[in-house]
Amino acid sequence: MKISIAGAGYVGLVTGVCLAEIGHNVTCVDVDEKKIEILKAGKSPIYEPGLEELMIKNKERLTYTTDYRSAYKNADVIFIAVGTPEKKDGSANLKYVYEATRQIAESIEKDCIVAVKSTVPVGTSDKVEKMLKENLRHNVHVEVVSNPEFLSQGTAVRDTLKAHRIVLGVESKHAEEVMRKVYDGFGQPYVITDRKSAEMIKYASNDFLALKISYINEIANLCEIVGANIEDVAKGMGMDPRIGDKFLQAGIGYGGSCFPKDTKALHWLANFYDYELKTIKAAIEVNESQKIKLIKKAKKYYDSFNGLTVAVLGLTFKPGTDDLREAPSLQNISILLEDGANIKAWDPVGIENYKKIYPNEIKYCNTIEETIKDADICFIFTEWPQIKNFDVSLFAKLMKYPLVLDGRNCYDLEKVKKAGIIYESIGRSTVNGLLK
Ligand code: NAD
Repeated sequence: MKISIAGAGYVGLVTGVCLAEIGHNVTCVDVDEKKIEILKAGKSPIYEPGLEELMIKNKERLTYTTDYRSAYKNADVIFIAVGTPEKKDGSANLKYVYEATRQIAESIEKDCIVAVKSTVPVGTSDKVEKMLKENLRHNVHVEVVSNPEFLSQGTAVRDTLKAHRIVLGVESKHAEEVMRKVYDGFGQPYVITDRKSAEMIKYASNDFLALKISYINEIANLCEIVGANIEDVAKGMGMDPRIGDKFLQAGIGYGGSCFPKDTKALHWLANFYDYELKTIKAAIEVNESQKIKLIKKAKKYYDSFNGLTVAVLGLTFKPGTDDLREAPSLQNISILLEDGANIKAWDPVGIENYKKIYPNEIKYCNTIEETIKDADICFIFTEWPQIKNFDVSLFAKLMKYPLVLDGRNCYDLEKVKKAGIIYESIGRSTVNGLLK
């Protein structure tokens, strides 16, 4: 099939490349000329494991362009995969979705299906269809399908090739049949429903996971107070299949381009209809205070960070991605800088993006050793495998004062006890290896 995708970001590009892998001819469209240039050169503009290899393997079936008119003109299916960031009031900003809609309407010259893959509030696909029909330049039949995406950054290619379900919100048998032709090659189970339910499935899924994270973080906070160990608690909970062990890792809260905005957007939508989603409101509030929990812990040791050498390990919102959107490191680093800290930071893939925000204010390091050398305190914000596998005894050897505040519970407490450091993590007791 001839497929075009509006938006070559984490979702659009991965979707496009994976659809090419199952034999479709895919054109990825983006308004960002730089991104398209990089893609045309055979490179991926984002860090996503396995993506570049698949791009190269399927290059005969992949085209990248900013010329949306020619890309949409004769497509069988056009996906909208542009961003839906958060507005100041928490609602979803749909300007990119509507802009792409207008571009599609003015370009299409044959019957086609437009599939909304961006995460959009319930009712948006109806509006997209109305807008398309009102702005058509040619006499063609166009229908809209809601087809939300569930991939996770860092495992996006695998998630797409091995998705647990494909949700299709359709209003006609014809639309369902066309979309099945797109996806049958993956051999994944379908959930066929109406458009509004499909849109709700996406928000309800993301918000449930965010709720699970905030729940375990609250239990972790209580564990610290009463002297229980969150790792054991989460293990004991997660072995119950009704609960499951995923998204039960206590830490300094969720970040990224989805959970923060999708919790706020659903809460906003409910409010708009005079209904309060109390559970989601709580999840958002817990996450906000959790993000700066390490700073609060650090205040036990230092009144101020002014003049201190602060080592930061991990900048991205989670391992496996170069994405910094809503990364807890951002809020923490802004507080530390404001307080006069001298920050040294390490991350395996996030530094280039960080430099766009802090070009000169931070000293970026090539190794963990270099980062922690002579530091007065070390913060861990992302659980990269390199950090988890790091020899903890080196903190004691290299730091000026071996105080490690770990927001991702990277280390086993028994190992840490022998390392001669002060170690604070989330939902577990403090280890003070300096006390005899
Ligand atoms: P992104 O910011 O990485 O990519 C969006 C791209 O759209 C950008 O490259 C931008 O230049 C481009 N764009 C904007 N307007 C355009 C237009 N008119 N025509 C063509 N391109 C245009 O965003 P993303 O992370 O891929 O997310 C896209 C959507 O998917 C969002 O609604 C998001 O909530 C949802 N989603 C994201 C993830 C994720 O893990 N990132 C997972 C599931 C769903």
